[in-house]
Amino acid sequence: RSRARRFERGESNVTFDDVAGLENAKRDLCEIAEYLKNPERFQRLGAKVPKGILLMGPPGTGKTLLAKALAGESDVPFYSISGSEFIEMFVGVGASRVRDMFADAKKEAPSIIFIDEIDSVGRARGTGLGGGHDEREQTLNQILSEMDGFSPQETVVVLAATNRPDVLDAALLRPGRFDRKITLDLPDRKARKAILHIHAREVPLAADVDMERLAALTVGFSGADLENLINEAALLAGRQDSEAVDMAAMLSARDKVVLGGEREMVISD
Ligand code: ATP
Repeated sequence: RSRARRFERGESNVTFDDVAGLENAKRDLCEIAEYLKNPERFQRLGAKVPKGILLMGPPGTGKTLLAKALAGESDVPFYSISGSEFIEMFVGVGASRVRDMFADAKKEAPSIIFIDEIDSVGRARGTGLGGGHDEREQTLNQILSEMDGFSPQETVVVLAATNRPDVLDAALLRPGRFDRKITLDLPDRKARKAILHIHAREVPLAADVDMERLAALTVGFSGADLENLINEAALLAGRQDSEAVDMAAMLSARDKVVLGGEREMVISD
């Protein structure tokens, strides 16, 4: 079996409203959702719809979230797998997983395939020590040939995410493959404020919480960091047995996320 995690129709209840900022990305993906909902409308006009969309951006900027939102908005089956899961210890397993996943997705077309961390299989070929025959290259070659092999009736949109677009094999970026690119940046102040609000939706807030100020104090935070900040603040308030999360808890949580980030950076140095 392909090992891809399959989400049923309607199982991803994420929508574009759950994604703050990233307006350009949402606009592009809205078009794809329109197409997935009604492929015939476009096919009868001879329109060629993009097969592959590459989401590029730093960790935690919402690549996976956007893929899920596309699935939620277009209400089609969604297959999700990480590039690293294709690489197994037995030769040929990665390629056969790719084949199985595409076969399943085609059977249920229109559908979406999401390959997270595509760089782990999609690095430029012929640069490693494997001499061109290794498992990873076979897997990559299989992805390329599957993407070339769709017939126009098989509406499978392939989304892939990476934070290392620079290392990708040029063959992946050719027309007919991942020829649409969407770049996600770290959120600006306005987007940080919106992200904080989204993740505080279920959190009782004290009257002194100032999201504008918190957004100003979180330069360089990703969406994932901001989500983490809200959660840390709620945990802290819970430990203090408070009824609501106040600004002091938010500020301590902010420091904790900053320090956590620094500690990780020291370790990976
Ligand atoms: P990675 O490269 O580490 O896989 P990613 O870009 O795929 O990261 P996500 O997994 O989508 O990041 O983001 C992690 C979490 O951060 C999301 O589940 C979401 O809760 C939050 N988040 C990130 N960006 C946003 C955003 N723009 N709006 C709302 N929430 C966000």
